[in-house]
Amino acid sequence: MKILITGGAGFIGSHIADACLNKGYEVVIIDNLTTGTRNNVHKNAVFYKADIRDTKRVARIFSKEKPDIVNHHAALASVTESVENPAETLEVNVVGTVNLLVAGVAHGLQKFIFSSTGGAIYGDIEHIPTPETVEAQPPSPYGLSKLLAERVIRYYGKEYSLPYVIFRYANVYGPRQNPHGEAGVIAIFAETMKQNKQPIIFGDGNKTRDYVYVEDIVDANMRALDCDKNILVNLGRGEEIKDQVVFDTIARALEYTQHPQYAPVRAGEMLRSALSTSAAHNELGWQPVTDFEDGIEKTIASY
Ligand code: NAD
Repeated sequence: MKILITGGAGFIGSHIADACLNKGYEVVIIDNLTTGTRNNVHKNAVFYKADIRDTKRVARIFSKEKPDIVNHHAALASVTESVENPAETLEVNVVGTVNLLVAGVAHGLQKFIFSSTGGAIYGDIEHIPTPETVEAQPPSPYGLSKLLAERVIRYYGKEYSLPYVIFRYANVYGPRQNPHGEAGVIAIFAETMKQNKQPIIFGDGNKTRDYVYVEDIVDANMRALDCDKNILVNLGRGEEIKDQVVFDTIARALEYTQHPQYAPVRAGEMLRSALSTSAAHNELGWQPVTDFEDGIEKTIASY
């Protein structure tokens, strides 16, 4: 069985690639290294430095590799950057997804697994933890790009009988998360504290997110390989954690004693978020096993 992982040089995709290789799958990776790095790529994976927007290149790779499964993690994943440059985010996250689907259908693809967002798709609503049945009203071009990509995947599911699993992730964290971007608050806070600088909390510290450890996300992706239904499910822990608690937990683990700086909430950001994950439990038997404190400890130990 051959699995093509886009974004396999990035944070989550590289962990999934490692798990697939451990399970005996052949792994092919497409990544243009925008935020990913070659160091994250397992030596036994076949690596193509390529851009998923490049229709012809993607078609050539599929024609050569003929993957059985695509696990699609390549994306521009910053809410803030998507507000500043919506066209690029939509191009990578939507047109890039279309290119993979077209090439997949042309070359006998059997399943498409997709990393959407639950943290940036529902908008500011009262229904928390949020189930998948709530209408997505993304407040940013990033969230919108993921919703559009989901719709295209479901279209291919219906019109071309391409089986799919769509995951809407909460905030994922863990080893290898890039601390230099706009997204990934845990990696950013930890890196800033290690440099003895002051992390910035956007808002008053009461903004909430649902944090899920990367190993739990990998577990769901591995379960998706055996799933024989088309599903769209949230993956999170269903627990709202305040920015201030994130700061305090990392500070404690790193014995950091300074205070954070506070700045206004950025455009496109939601104030509260936590996901209901009973559908993932029902469909895949999945549930997260790493609690927040343990996940932070494991992440920090990996530095
Ligand atoms: P990441 O930035 O580490 O990984 C994304 C990868 O995609 C990078 O390696 C990057 O180089 C690659 N990439 C970007 N544009 C590309 C292009 N045009 N062509 C080929 N490769 C390209 O981010 P991540 O946190 O690992 O996120 C992986 C996926 O999960 C993304 O689709 C993201 O939207 C989704 N997701 C992440 C989170 C989270 O909390 N980390 C939450 C919800 C959804």
